[in-house]
Amino acid sequence: MSLGNCPRCGKLYAMNFRDMCSDCMKEIEEEYQQCAKYLRESKGATIHEVSEATGVTIRQITKFIREGRISIANAPNMSYPCEVCGVLIRENNMCDSCRSRLTKELRSAAASESEKDDQDKKSDYTYKAVEKLRKY
Ligand SMILES: [Zn+2]
Ligand SMILES: [Zn+2]
Repeated sequence: MSLGNCPRCGKLYAMNFRDMCSDCMKEIEEEYQQCAKYLRESKGATIHEVSEATGVTIRQITKFIREGRISIANAPNMSYPCEVCGVLIRENNMCDSCRSRLTKELRSAAASESEKDDQDKKSDYTYKAVEKLRKY
């Protein structure tokens, strides 16, 4: 059994293939139930309304949506922030303009491989973002 600090509350817990301690898992499960219930009752709600009504952070609701636990297919006003600029979107991790900007940045980064040194920081960020993009 290996011990680790829970990334959410910092408490020491037995990791056992879990991302966080059992208290936090329970709390998140409750948060999920609250959000799902609220959305069932108010299909026209926005993410801000769900957050205000349930007290669950937008960040956590976004996670539920990305994990596929909360479906926004039947909630026409639900959306979540783009990972890069925060604009509200309904699919992928980023909005269209961030996606096309990153694709362009990646292309120019690949084109100027020889100038790698001063590009390092930027392309590291770009590669990470593009890796995320590839999953979708
Ligand atoms: Zn915890
Ligand atoms: Zn964006």
